[in-house]
Amino acid sequence: MAVLPVLTWGDPRLKQNSQDIGEWTPELEKLVADMFETSLFEEGVGLAAPQVGVNLNLAVIDCSCGEDPDQRIILINPEIIREEGVQSGSEGCLSIPGIREELERPQKVTIRNRTRDGGWQELTGEDLMARAFCHEIDHLRGRLFVEYFGPVKRQFLQRKYQKQTKG
Ligand SMILES: [Zn+2]
Repeated sequence: MAVLPVLTWGDPRLKQNSQDIGEWTPELEKLVADMFETSLFEEGVGLAAPQVGVNLNLAVIDCSCGEDPDQRIILINPEIIREEGVQSGSEGCLSIPGIREELERPQKVTIRNRTRDGGWQELTGEDLMARAFCHEIDHLRGRLFVEYFGPVKRQFLQRKYQKQTKG
């Protein structure tokens, strides 16, 4: 397993729509293992393939941050099919290190997800898991969480981010 370099805010590859995955391959299995390793190393809850420069509808989520292997979820060609309620809470992104902001998300989210053997499953997540589903699926559509804010706040965050990356 390897820790992969994570693309950061401003990289045009984070703004692309990703492609659906066809057949599951050993290369994808290795990529997923590396993505879990990277997410864990960076102390994230999830990581989407576009963040490591791979333009595929693939993401990993681990709300236990490495504590419980059973909580590892692999999103393959996921789609949100149901949203309920609202939660507010602070959100961050491994591609925008150092920035955390309050963002409203649905409290409960159900997705349709492909499994590695080519079947389909429905997964329902609440609270942090629901937030992670939305956040990672946004990445696959080329959207970062800061894009939910208006232009003034976004520019403020961008300046703050650039200032701290320059040291
Ligand atoms: Zn992110």
